[in-house]
Amino acid sequence: MKISSVKLRIYGRVQGVGFRPFVYRLATALELKGYVLNSSKGVEILLQGSESSIKKFIGDLKEKAPPLSYISKIEEDVIESEPFAEFKIEKSKKEEGLVFISPDIAVCDDCLREMRDPKDRRYRYPFINCTNCGPRYTIIEDIPYDRVKTTMKKFKMCDLCEAEYKDPLSRRFHAQPNSCYDCGPELWIEGVKTADVFKEIAELLKAGKILAIKGLGGFHLACNATLDDVVNRLRARKKRPHKPFALMMKDLNMVEHYCYVSDKEKELLKSLQSPIVLLKIKNRDDVADSVAPNNNYLGVMLPYTPYHYLIFEHIDFPLVMTSANFSDSPIIKDNEEAKLKLKTIVDFFVFHNRDIRHRVDDSVLFIENENIQIIRRARGYAPDPVKLPIRVRPSLALGPELKNTFTLAKDDTAILSPHIGDLKNNDIMQVFEETIDEYLRLFKIEPEFLIADMHPSYMTTELAERSKDYIEIKYVQHHKAHIYSLLFDNQFTGKVIGIAFDGTGFGEDGNIWGGEVFIGDLRGLERVYHFDYFPIVGGDSAIKNPKRIALSFIISQLPEVESFIAHKFTPFEIELVKRMVDHGKVFYTSSVGRIFDIVASILDIRDKITYEAQAAIEVQMQGELVEHNDFYSFEIKNRRVVFASMILGIIEDKLAKKGVPYIARKFHNTIAEIIKVLSERVREEKDINLVGLSGGVFQNRLLLKLTLRKLKEAGFKVLLHKNVPSNDGGVSLGQLAASLVE
Ligand code: ZN
Ligand code: ZN
Ligand code: FE
Repeated sequence: MKISSVKLRIYGRVQGVGFRPFVYRLATALELKGYVLNSSKGVEILLQGSESSIKKFIGDLKEKAPPLSYISKIEEDVIESEPFAEFKIEKSKKEEGLVFISPDIAVCDDCLREMRDPKDRRYRYPFINCTNCGPRYTIIEDIPYDRVKTTMKKFKMCDLCEAEYKDPLSRRFHAQPNSCYDCGPELWIEGVKTADVFKEIAELLKAGKILAIKGLGGFHLACNATLDDVVNRLRARKKRPHKPFALMMKDLNMVEHYCYVSDKEKELLKSLQSPIVLLKIKNRDDVADSVAPNNNYLGVMLPYTPYHYLIFEHIDFPLVMTSANFSDSPIIKDNEEAKLKLKTIVDFFVFHNRDIRHRVDDSVLFIENENIQIIRRARGYAPDPVKLPIRVRPSLALGPELKNTFTLAKDDTAILSPHIGDLKNNDIMQVFEETIDEYLRLFKIEPEFLIADMHPSYMTTELAERSKDYIEIKYVQHHKAHIYSLLFDNQFTGKVIGIAFDGTGFGEDGNIWGGEVFIGDLRGLERVYHFDYFPIVGGDSAIKNPKRIALSFIISQLPEVESFIAHKFTPFEIELVKRMVDHGKVFYTSSVGRIFDIVASILDIRDKITYEAQAAIEVQMQGELVEHNDFYSFEIKNRRVVFASMILGIIEDKLAKKGVPYIARKFHNTIAEIIKVLSERVREEKDINLVGLSGGVFQNRLLLKLTLRKLKEAGFKVLLHKNVPSNDGGVSLGQLAASLVE
């Protein structure tokens, strides 16, 4: 005999987040019969019972769902089915379709309470977790998310753990990484025997040792952030002279001692994602200058695994916790790999034997004017989907080159990879391709298109070229992709004035773009204004040497002040640059990022950089030291921003000893003023009142703040990024504009 039943299919992030036990409790409380199971599409529920109970069930399902879950869609069908005597949680079922994988989640308060309770069987257990917290993405080998498909499969649960795992009323019901002292992973210091491993780790850190500590998504290099010589030793060994190191701090009290923290920033620090938040320095106190040289901010995170907390039980100073890798290569994740590659950098290794399947860095964010801006989207955020406002064909967007991510998408869902790194060598390219393979397998999307940047020599473009016999390739101009990414990010389908200010990107006319104003929507963008082209001698090497960019600008546009910069070069170098400019053996660029380089060199802030965007960042830091509203003159001619008068003004102010912070601020004010004036012109021409800001230059929060202020005063509405970075880490999302479903 079959009876009428209701079948629900729940889509979204509904696996590994306590969804089935929640469904079980809800159904049994309403005396419904049937089952719930994980399918590879999401969660399937069958309900038998009174109509009113089923109605209440569906209402509660939406309203009371577990905090980590996210329902994108519910499908409801009435079917005939065998009667069930009870409500059961059934085995997972394999099906075709898209499933979401939960990111990793910081240890929860319930677990911390148990970990600190001497009477609890997991007292001080470094891998304590539950349905609401712990590793997810980093340990998942396949879907549906079940223990046998995670790197936890090698640990057989003991009876007590298994009883929790099977008890629908337990906090650990189907918590796949569930474990304890008797049955779970272990943590140790390689080659060191000690009764208290966490006390020992703390002692080593206190004594100035550099440690590699295996975390959730890879290794950290850790050291005492208050010892300048130790931090400098780490810099020397890692060959990273200036780029700021992130810090892990014991708790909010410690954070408040060193930094200004708003309520919103506190919330972000303590969130499930537990990212690195860039915070304005209140008081450097004992934090070594070498942690973040020439910077007004510290990148701070709170402990997020149980063992980070256990380490901090014994110390009262901040730790440097930087990704264990070399110059933006992928983070190292395996014990053996760490031993091999980090032996010249660290003094000790802290290993554990819960394997990391997917590497993932710490995410980095900042808050400006209440807007959360992502700099690096990784742990805690990836691979959460981004919902699209327009459907796309199944496609794989490869991104550009620096800070790269890729995006796999289908219908109204885009899945961005976590930050992978700068695709500049074969090692990292291999990781990039492996990660793509993994995503194709896990998410079961078969792309019809491969989408690449137009730059002819990016490794991603070469990858696309290599694949062209197998799949259709589409190309999207870099800065258009920035603006498309902004529109997707805001789920916005209307028209926008798109300001893309950036480092470099290959333009449709063969020049290097980066100071562009577009108008249009997701269906197409038209370039309506841009910064005037100026020559750069030598591509990549010039970018590492801001003074050379300044020289070629001055030689070509302001030859009358050549003497101002000449002392930085030999006569031969100057002669060479002059000849190349004269003979047109140069690149032409409209990049605003490069204008920051020119200013950095003119102001003697930075002539040579050791990490990307360093010159611009240091100009920003100077500009933040004073407040005023002066700006330099500029012209808009033939749809170009001509800015030689601004550079001349900067040189004159420098000669008049106006002070570097004053000039840097005035320069920022000028760029913000240019954005306002350009927007006003487009508004007059096209009657659009919405301005969108994207591109790496808008990671400059001083410029962002000044621009927002001016645009608001002029009556504009503004679109900013929300879920993806405005830098090149967001470009792969924007590339999807090439595969819209018409
Ligand atoms: Zn927990
Ligand atoms: Zn156990
Ligand atoms: Fe870019």
